[in-house]
Amino acid sequence: MKTEKAVVVFSGGQDSTTCLFWALKHFAEVEAITFDYNQRHRLEIDVASSIAKELGIEHTVLDMSLLNQLAPNALTRSDIAIEHKEGELPSTFVDGRNLLFLSFAAVLAKQKGARHLVTGVCETDFSGYPDCRDIFIKSLNVTLNLAMDYQFVIHTPLMWLNKAETWKLADELGALEFVRTKTLTCYNGIIADGCGECPACILRKRGLEQYLREKAEVTGR
Ligand code: ZN
Repeated sequence: MKTEKAVVVFSGGQDSTTCLFWALKHFAEVEAITFDYNQRHRLEIDVASSIAKELGIEHTVLDMSLLNQLAPNALTRSDIAIEHKEGELPSTFVDGRNLLFLSFAAVLAKQKGARHLVTGVCETDFSGYPDCRDIFIKSLNVTLNLAMDYQFVIHTPLMWLNKAETWKLADELGALEFVRTKTLTCYNGIIADGCGECPACILRKRGLEQYLREKAEVTGR
């Protein structure tokens, strides 16, 4: 793989930034693609751009504002509260978002001569998004290959990892501090450790604390 080129679906958050470092380790050439769908926080796009710049990665920002026309949701509309009721899809859910993002990323990748697509989707912290499931990714991979007569390989390095294991992966890639201090996951638009109170911050913090605890236990002996 080290001679080949990959395109990473990149939001500037913890997961996709970890995927970016993973791709840099495994591929000769890496590019990133970010989708602009009028996110609640424009800062997301700026964060993604500045990370790509710092890592010297070519970065494409694609206008996906049509997504709001199709599915108004809490990620883009400040008048819809971010909530996640037990047993229900969170209010940040957009039907088919990953399907659309990966399909657009594939079109770009083929133009750029890249066969490999990397995405940070994950079944473990599964919030109920059907298009984050492994079976969907495998199905889409086949569909994309048939649709474009091309041998794509979709990589999902985080698919079976929990948040603590995602931090561990970042650490193994030598990127723990980078991911911790430069990425944006917080729904309230605060970089690094975030507001500490929104669902994304709580998940991120809990994972980091768990990982650091486990690391201390291992290295402490
Ligand atoms: Zn937050």
